[in-house]
Amino acid sequence: MSNNLSNQNLELIKKLTYDLVKINSITNTKGEIDAALYIYNFLALLNYFKKNKENLILQELNDNIGRKNVIAIIKGGSLKSNNVIILLSHFDTVDIEDYQNLKEYAFDIDELTSKIKQLYLSNTVNNNQDIKEIIDDIESKGYIFGRGVLDMKSGVAVNLAIIKELAENIDKFNGIVIALFVADEETNSLGMLKAIDFLYNYKKNNKVNYIACIDTDYIVKDKRNDSILVNSYYGSIGKILVGFYVKGIEAHVGESYKGLNPLLIMSKIVSSLEMNKNVINKKSKDVIPPTFIYSKDLKDSYSVKTPSDAFAFLNILIFDNNVNKVISNIKRILKNVLNTFIHKYKLEIFDYEEFTKLLKLKLKENYDEIYNKIKQKLYNDYLNGKVDERFYSLYLVKNLNEYLDFRPRVILFLTPPFYPAVFNKNKKIVKILKNVLKNFDGEYGYRYNIKQFFPYISDLSFLGNVDNIDYIKNNLVGFNEVYFLDFEKINYISTDVFDIGSLGNDAHKFTERLDSFYTFNILPNIVFSFINKIFENKI
Ligand SMILES: [Zn+2]
Repeated sequence: MSNNLSNQNLELIKKLTYDLVKINSITNTKGEIDAALYIYNFLALLNYFKKNKENLILQELNDNIGRKNVIAIIKGGSLKSNNVIILLSHFDTVDIEDYQNLKEYAFDIDELTSKIKQLYLSNTVNNNQDIKEIIDDIESKGYIFGRGVLDMKSGVAVNLAIIKELAENIDKFNGIVIALFVADEETNSLGMLKAIDFLYNYKKNNKVNYIACIDTDYIVKDKRNDSILVNSYYGSIGKILVGFYVKGIEAHVGESYKGLNPLLIMSKIVSSLEMNKNVINKKSKDVIPPTFIYSKDLKDSYSVKTPSDAFAFLNILIFDNNVNKVISNIKRILKNVLNTFIHKYKLEIFDYEEFTKLLKLKLKENYDEIYNKIKQKLYNDYLNGKVDERFYSLYLVKNLNEYLDFRPRVILFLTPPFYPAVFNKNKKIVKILKNVLKNFDGEYGYRYNIKQFFPYISDLSFLGNVDNIDYIKNNLVGFNEVYFLDFEKINYISTDVFDIGSLGNDAHKFTERLDSFYTFNILPNIVFSFINKIFENKI
């Protein structure tokens, strides 16, 4: 099979990108349905899907908006193999608040591109590196602006063109490609989690092997000397959100020396962990340090009393799923910093598992009843929208702690969401990718590089094998109550994951822009060759 898409299919990518950007499909809105239907209708017109209607599926998310995924299955005509390659993309985008007074142009690539050109080229005073880069891109032509143009409607367009090419050459490849076009990637990955149900059932019923998943989500452009460096990734970082519940000793402000202010403890926690790379297991310059996204006391209203308790949430990007080690790193750091308080006030530091063990010892057979009472009330608050998944877990910890005793303590717990870190074990496919990229290296000034971890949280996290899950299950508060991940299902369908994506800069900013030359002309041929080579190599 030719390793390039036909000119006609390559040219189609531009039109598809423009059309898809025009559809306002901000995450968590009805617009996602319009994007799904556009994709579905495009595919439904192909002869292959006219003949094989059962291979094109509109999968309901069963949410209160009515959103859907689109799933397309293409089976090679000379099929002797049960090997499946998954092609992944999402069609939702983040909102458009960042466009300020340009909001009305956010979905119109030509209008917005010309407005942003005017804006930047008229501004002559700028030493700022970012601004210089934007002007360089504008002047180098081929860059287009628009919400979702990079993240990742152009990636959807590339996948649609590849599916069309495969559908038109059905006799020439030996394997199965399943293209997943999913909703809700930018919110809760509900689309991907539904798609996992599909992949699970498909594998069970058809005895297929998933051998690779290729996501075409965006890659940030990098410059090296005079060439543009394009990264591809095999594997993806994960994420945990660590909650800190701090119980202090409250006191009247006139007798403050009698208390232990939880805000003081929390300030020590924040200052010792914010941007502290020692929290993470991996030692490398690529490590992204942790950062707090919340820190507050839990007092409801003003009074001349110090607060009784406080909380914080720490965002940590992880490179493996040894979360127990991350938590013990945190404990070690905290024990050092809080040393004087630990001695003076007998301040305890527990993870959630240790804490619940103690509480069970104390409450014995009453534990379940008390737990369920607290849970039921919070669950109602959750259903009524009074608390989200994170505050559900925080208040669960706070309320349970009231049953232990009045001592000061720090409880560390995991709160949703959890994105597993995933990486490939099969180096053979990575080698195939290396060989494919060699053929493109240097052409039109683009050089290629392969890295292990896709540095942005993405749906790929749910396609790799997740190990060390016991600690997560025991410490993720609200797991199987307000937050669900079927690890058994995920591990059953797990496969090697790759991100080979659209190229550009500033996703999620109003300067989101796409290198359209690379994305419309080179990327599709790289992904298409990679698919063909994997099938030819009979992995
Ligand atoms: Zn994306």
